[in-house]
Amino acid sequence: MQSKLYIDGQWVEPATGKTANVINPATEEVIQTIAHASEKDVDQAVLAARRAFDKDGWSQTTGKQRAVYLRRIAQLIRERLEELSVIEVKDNGKPLPEARWDIGDAAGCFDYYAGLAEELDDSDVALEVSDERFRCRVRREPLGVVGAIVPWNYPLLMAAWKVAPALAAGCTVVLKPAEITSLSALELGAIAHQAQLPPGVLNILTGSGSVAGQAIVVHPEVDKLAFTGSGPVGSRIMAEAAKDIKRVSLELGGKSPLIVFDDADLEAAVEWIMFGIFWNQGQVCSATSRVLVQDTLYPRLLERLATEARKITIGNGLDEGVLLGPLVSKAQYDQVCAAVEQAKTAGARVVAGGERPAGKVRGFYYQPTVLVDMALDSQVWNEEIFGPVVCVRPFATEAEAVTVANDSRYGLAAAVMTRDEARSARVSNALRAGIVWINCSQPTFTEAPWGGYKQSGIGRELGKWGLDNYLETKQVTSYVSDEPWGWYIK
Ligand code: NAD
Repeated sequence: MQSKLYIDGQWVEPATGKTANVINPATEEVIQTIAHASEKDVDQAVLAARRAFDKDGWSQTTGKQRAVYLRRIAQLIRERLEELSVIEVKDNGKPLPEARWDIGDAAGCFDYYAGLAEELDDSDVALEVSDERFRCRVRREPLGVVGAIVPWNYPLLMAAWKVAPALAAGCTVVLKPAEITSLSALELGAIAHQAQLPPGVLNILTGSGSVAGQAIVVHPEVDKLAFTGSGPVGSRIMAEAAKDIKRVSLELGGKSPLIVFDDADLEAAVEWIMFGIFWNQGQVCSATSRVLVQDTLYPRLLERLATEARKITIGNGLDEGVLLGPLVSKAQYDQVCAAVEQAKTAGARVVAGGERPAGKVRGFYYQPTVLVDMALDSQVWNEEIFGPVVCVRPFATEAEAVTVANDSRYGLAAAVMTRDEARSARVSNALRAGIVWINCSQPTFTEAPWGGYKQSGIGRELGKWGLDNYLETKQVTSYVSDEPWGWYIK
């Protein structure tokens, strides 16, 4: 496994020699030591990316040429799918089947953007303008050097969502993974190297947010910041970026609602509620962590949900049959414990889970937890927990459900369960969220836009919208008349 910094096509020791331990959250054992980049390392990486963009010609390559590299990367990820999945489990804690899903998706993301890169070659558009003495053409060009900063919940996949479209567009990248889950991003460096990506086009720096992350954010040679992470850090990044008008795209947190009407299929509703909050231990930005159930169905649904939640097999993500692994870190475990204790003190009732599973002495395990009876203005109903904790409340009418669902500063995702198509259309239109699921929760497609309303972020990743993040739009206007312009010179 790689442990150094990947700068300008080479593996290098950090300038300060600083390293940090990587801990397996299932066992609490140290599994690796990785480098912590300093400001000096960041400067070198950014200058390499600048040179690769401005002088070495990456920005001048055709989309077809870039697609070759992207497809090679996709292929190499697929060839190492099992190995990378195991790395992801040991680093992040997620169950192995989920990790396989993520790594396969990451490969698919590189393939998808290879296709869009090829389409860029013929994407110039001729415009008719109001004065026939002029011809106007619009072309898309790569934006420049991208600083990509990603979180720990989907380590390789979040990196792919940024690196693949940025390279497809013709940008160069400095990627910083989360300090607690950097291993798969380092392997992406090894894969890019094997794919013979030119030096400086992709640089990967492990390290802390406050040093390496901050140094990327303030570096004057970075043109664009692509960030996924928490709201407070996103807000700080936006404020820093404003100083030199860097482009910014932000994918932040959420407290997404899932509304269940009483005509919904009960078993399907329970299954999707569970998938919406227990997948990846609930450490999902789009987790449907606020569930609203029509009062006529509420008691029956709650009983089924609590019963099924208690049955989930908890354990090391590498063990067969495990569907809930440990939380990613001790800090995250402490945060989830504190959120549930705070909710109980404020009057919420635990109907399933609510503590560490019996018999788990080591590892950051927490039971799948169902909470009820919390107030609408309570912390637990309004704030992201980022753990396997779902809040359930009854509602009476469609109007009430929509009002309560929309009463949030977030707007990443929302879901509605009903057999009534007219109602699902009405409600999905009324929900103020960037992603709305009908009769499901969480499915995500590389082709479809991903991002939030309100404080859940700015911009969209994935699909053709994800490519737009890394492109500038240039107007090229020609004077084509045989007549002189004749303003000053008659
Ligand atoms: P975080 O904001 O603490 O860290 C995210 C990344 O930012 C890490 O790489 C971190 O090192 C870096 N960072 C921290 N401080 C920084 C600074 N001052 N300058 C530059 N970089 C800095 O978030 P996290 O705890 O890693 O991730 C969890 C959060 O991410 C949750 O709020 C979750 O909702 C959000 N998230 C959102 C999406 C989405 O698509 N909307 C996806 C995944 C996670």
